[in-house]
Amino acid sequence: MFAEREIRPLAAAYEREDRYPFELVEKMKEMGLFGAIIPQEYGGLGLDYVTYARIIEEIARVWMSVAGILNSHLIMAWAVLTYGTEAQRRHYLPRFATGERRGGLCLTEPDAGSDVQGIRTTARRDGDGYRLNGAKMFITNGRYGDTYLVLARTDPAATPPRRGMSLFVVEKGPGFVVLRDIPKLGYRGVETCEIRFEDMYVPADNLVGGEEGQGFRQVLGALEVGRINVAARGVGLARAAFEAAIRYADQRRAFGQPIAEFELIQKKLAWMATKIEAARLLTLRAAERKARGERADLEAGMAKLFATETAQEAALEAMRIHGGYGYTEDFPVERYYRDAPLLVIGEGTNEIQETVIARQLLRRLRAGEDPGGWGP
Ligand SMILES: Cc1cc2nc3c(=O)[nH]c(=O)nc-3n(C[C@H](O)[C@H](O)[C@H](O)COP(=O)(O)OP(=O)(O)OC[C@H]3O[C@@H](n4cnc5c(N)ncnc54)[C@H](O)[C@@H]3O)c2cc1C
Repeated sequence: MFAEREIRPLAAAYEREDRYPFELVEKMKEMGLFGAIIPQEYGGLGLDYVTYARIIEEIARVWMSVAGILNSHLIMAWAVLTYGTEAQRRHYLPRFATGERRGGLCLTEPDAGSDVQGIRTTARRDGDGYRLNGAKMFITNGRYGDTYLVLARTDPAATPPRRGMSLFVVEKGPGFVVLRDIPKLGYRGVETCEIRFEDMYVPADNLVGGEEGQGFRQVLGALEVGRINVAARGVGLARAAFEAAIRYADQRRAFGQPIAEFELIQKKLAWMATKIEAARLLTLRAAERKARGERADLEAGMAKLFATETAQEAALEAMRIHGGYGYTEDFPVERYYRDAPLLVIGEGTNEIQETVIARQLLRRLRAGEDPGGWGP
């Protein structure tokens, strides 16, 4: 399979050197992966979300960064597919599907991450288009991509601010400035950039859906898909950590026997595998709902929360099972340990997921519904 055959031989060295995997991106283009969830009529593979989640899981199991390159791009594609005008779909989706145009999302700003309504980037009407001004932070695919979904305020006076926010498809050009690549603990090989818009002109045709004031709602929908993807990355990373741990435990001997024979080690392995199984089921269930075209904010939030906490825990336990060797670059678990925390933070921190989940449960209760949805 692609992940084992093509990604695994490069992952460790590229990650250590923080080297961008150009050749893997080219291979993913050839395989059509940049169009995985884009319908065939727009030139994509037309895969359902469950199949896509499984692909992301397998890639993340080998190298999480490569799954990130794909994810950010496909959230952008999903938003154009779901909220774009037919002209926008016809223009962009075939180009996204082949990877001729690639990119991601520009939501976060230096002073606004979780608090999306706090963004300051503005899009001011100017003739047949808009002028973008503002700063964006932590943009995945920011250097080697060329097209982005940008959230900006078209009506800075609107209250609440979300009513004055709009989403644009922005192609790199004059006024799009990549300020720097941000050095990171993990998630290496893929660039994370600080970006500035300096009076950048964007045609009005690039306003997603053609109507101002829809951006906040569109972003919430896109983040649902993003959270399922991040959950799948968590499952993949957790599996990698578990598989390394169980193999090592079965080989490493102490006190005259494999450490896998010690009950304390067995307990760790049992909990890791059980939580991974549960995380996987949550992720696939959320993906199934999305595949049926249903809202999945609660399910996506639960999957993201549990799968990414499981990934972080599994990475730590795998390192502990490896003893001192787990702390060295001679074994892959130190990479899993550095990669896992991003999943807890990205696509809405897990504190935000907890808030989203709790709000949904309370909403159902107050509407007279079964809050957990588990009824008889
Ligand atoms: C490697 C990397 C790649 C990224 N890629 C992208 C990208 O491609 N595009 C993009 O737009 N963004 C991207 N991000 C940004 C990411 O989504 C944000 O970092 C994240 O949403 C958190 O925002 P923040 O960093 O501003 O933290 P803050 O929002 O400042 O949060 C700081 C802390 O406060 C907590 N907190 C905030 N509000 C609440 C609340 N209401 N209740 C409880 N706790 C709260 C948070 O959970 C967190 O613990 C990326 C980030 C990283 C690190």
